[in-house]
Amino acid sequence: MIDLRSDTITKPTPNMLKAMFSAPVGDDVFENDPSVNLLQDKASELFNMQAALFCPSGTMTNQIAIRINTSPQDEVICDQNAHIYLYEGGGMMLNSMVSPKLLTGDKGRLTAEMITAAINPDDIHRPKTRLVALENTMNKGGGAIYDFKEIIKIATVCKKNELKLHMDGARLFNALAESQETPADYGTLFDTISICFSKGLGAPVGSMLIGTKDAINQAKRVRKAMGGGMRQAGYLAAACTYALDHHLDKIKDDHRRAQTLASAIENLSFVSALYPVQTNIIIIALKPDRSPKTFLHQLEKKGLLAIGFGKGLIRLVTHLDFNDDQMEKVIHIFRSLE
Ligand SMILES: *Cc1c(COP(=O)(O)O)cnc(C)c1O
Repeated sequence: MIDLRSDTITKPTPNMLKAMFSAPVGDDVFENDPSVNLLQDKASELFNMQAALFCPSGTMTNQIAIRINTSPQDEVICDQNAHIYLYEGGGMMLNSMVSPKLLTGDKGRLTAEMITAAINPDDIHRPKTRLVALENTMNKGGGAIYDFKEIIKIATVCKKNELKLHMDGARLFNALAESQETPADYGTLFDTISICFSKGLGAPVGSMLIGTKDAINQAKRVRKAMGGGMRQAGYLAAACTYALDHHLDKIKDDHRRAQTLASAIENLSFVSALYPVQTNIIIIALKPDRSPKTFLHQLEKKGLLAIGFGKGLIRLVTHLDFNDDQMEKVIHIFRSLE
């Protein structure tokens, strides 16, 4: 079975497992785990920010970021399809008692102009606009990449209006692989950045929240209260360090395979349209006479797993455990359904 449901399905490589097994560990709640400390230092240096905190998931790093960047009753500006709104179980309402202001970006990407227009006036009837959260790449937008020039403009609007700025960078390394910017360029513009090692980088578990020393000290308290303080977490951190050292370069291969798949699929009779493929996500709009549920079932019978993505859409994601031979098979499977 070829599994393109998500880039989270990858399993550790033998060498990653070796790195995990041989990791020096300690109790990370006492801040005594050398492998966690190494990874946190590596991440904060990479982004040229002061500090970083290792967490079990990207949902947790995002939720902690919302919590420390807001107060109850505040409002968070994000796209209507943002992961923090759509896929985190209503967490911002539960954990931070804030409401979202949902905007409709271009494939999930907001502009400085849209954000400026969405800031509430100072009026006790209105929640206080406090945080802007961007997602790069944008999952629901088909892995769309932000234009960094727009991010600079957005950061300027945030500074001017005293808004905090958070990056949900679960797939930020996919964006970076296709752009000129460095992680440090992002570090200068954002109050907090979340990155995931369990997506394109192929680690089994792990996300990082990166920010100022103050922000990360606050984040430690929130992580503890959420039950996210882990003990000998160094075994996991070692996998993430291994991923940073060995898998960053492989992201481009995922993108190339996504491009090849997209070109082979786009003109098939049952395809109505594809979202532009910029990274490792392919979103296919099926012709109205094809039900996604039936179509996914047909794919599965031929040996391919994909997922439905709402409204006649299905999603495929390329990843580290997907190679050129499998890519040829996937093309063959799609052609056989004409
Ligand atoms: C996967 C993902 C996350 C985090 O998900 P977890 O499964 O909680 O690690 C956050 N944001 C985006 C855009 C994602 O794709």
